Amino acid sequence: MGNALLVLNAGSSSLKFSVFDVGVSGALRAMAVGQVEGLGTAPRLRAKGADGVVIADERSTTSDVANHAQALQKIATLLGSRFAGQELAGVGHRVVHGGPDYSAPLLITPQAMEKLDTFMPLAPLHQPHNLAAIRAVQQGRPGLPQVACFDTAFHRTQDEVAQLYGLPYEYYERGIRRYGFHGLSYEYIAATLPDIAPEVATGRVVVAHLGSGASMCAMHDGRSVGSSMGFTALDGLMMGTRPGNLDPGIILYLLQQEGMSARDVEDLLYKRSGLLGLSGIGNDMRVLQESESPRARLAIAYFVYRISRELGGLAAVLGGLDAVVFTAGIGENSAFIRRLVCEQAIWLGIDLDPAANERGGPRISRIGSRVSAWVVPTNEELMIARHTRQLLGL
Ligand code: AMP
Repeated sequence: MGNALLVLNAGSSSLKFSVFDVGVSGALRAMAVGQVEGLGTAPRLRAKGADGVVIADERSTTSDVANHAQALQKIATLLGSRFAGQELAGVGHRVVHGGPDYSAPLLITPQAMEKLDTFMPLAPLHQPHNLAAIRAVQQGRPGLPQVACFDTAFHRTQDEVAQLYGLPYEYYERGIRRYGFHGLSYEYIAATLPDIAPEVATGRVVVAHLGSGASMCAMHDGRSVGSSMGFTALDGLMMGTRPGNLDPGIILYLLQQEGMSARDVEDLLYKRSGLLGLSGIGNDMRVLQESESPRARLAIAYFVYRISRELGGLAAVLGGLDAVVFTAGIGENSAFIRRLVCEQAIWLGIDLDPAANERGGPRISRIGSRVSAWVVPTNEELMIARHTRQLLGL
């Protein structure tokens, strides 16, 4: 039996990886993290060891590393040379869509792959890459156990009402329902809260995952009861390049009156909207915060406005609120955005501690605040590694 686990997170033009040591019992430890980015354009492998020291930074030609299988080969070569004494026990994958039924991670079998293939139309921009990474491992290391961990699974505890749209019911039966995403992040937060904030972990908590993709989740006793993301990862909050909540009539208007094709609309919604589209400057919150441009300010104001509206809505779903948790790139690092959100939520009972907020928490509300506020760094890779270890019985 091997003593290392590989965690893979495949995107359209990148393959991110982490290697965990499972040789020792207890807490999992990442031995290396990295990624191959620029697949098919300007491929580059970068990786760091456990101590944060760079262990690889190399560019390849486009023809050498054009797909996930070739990217995996690069990673395997690196790991083979750096960790010669370690043997892989299995691979855990982030898979965006587990459809209506999968509420837990899944051991990959030929039948499971057939089923996961059927979810491709539900997430055409992500699922094919996730499954390509699984197939690349099957090709390179046939027989190595693999586990799929779904971004939708954590939300399958939601009531049917919370998963509905007001369309004829047969559409729900055909799979047009609110799935919710970022589930591995929320599950990690739910698992971590009892240590960091035991007084609220079993209560009514809204978690704001604010990264380049952004969503919010209402949790009661560590279980998802509502999410701002719905059928796809477009709904809810405004994001780096995605608009968030839209009147569906806008899509009809663009198709029928402005003559846009479905492909044009897809491009607009996934790549040209959000912070980028509103600011006209970019999708990096750091850049927008530094900018004097009125449009950058407008983009930030709308970003915060949407969070405030969702927070109010999710608090209503929970029937009250005990805590708010900020996580992911913006949530963990931007004291400025956290302050704006908390100031707009004074009515809910959040009394921000400005100094604690600048320090980055973990608790950023004053003692005595009716609703407490927290910063908790997320770790989706560790969540995948935990699931994989458990499912493989390591
Ligand atoms: P993620 O997708 O979780 O990696 O988050 C990426 C986002 O986090 C980008 O929009 C970054 O601009 C944002 N981000 C990272 N660090 C900071 C920071 N110090 N201040 C504001 N935003 C940040």
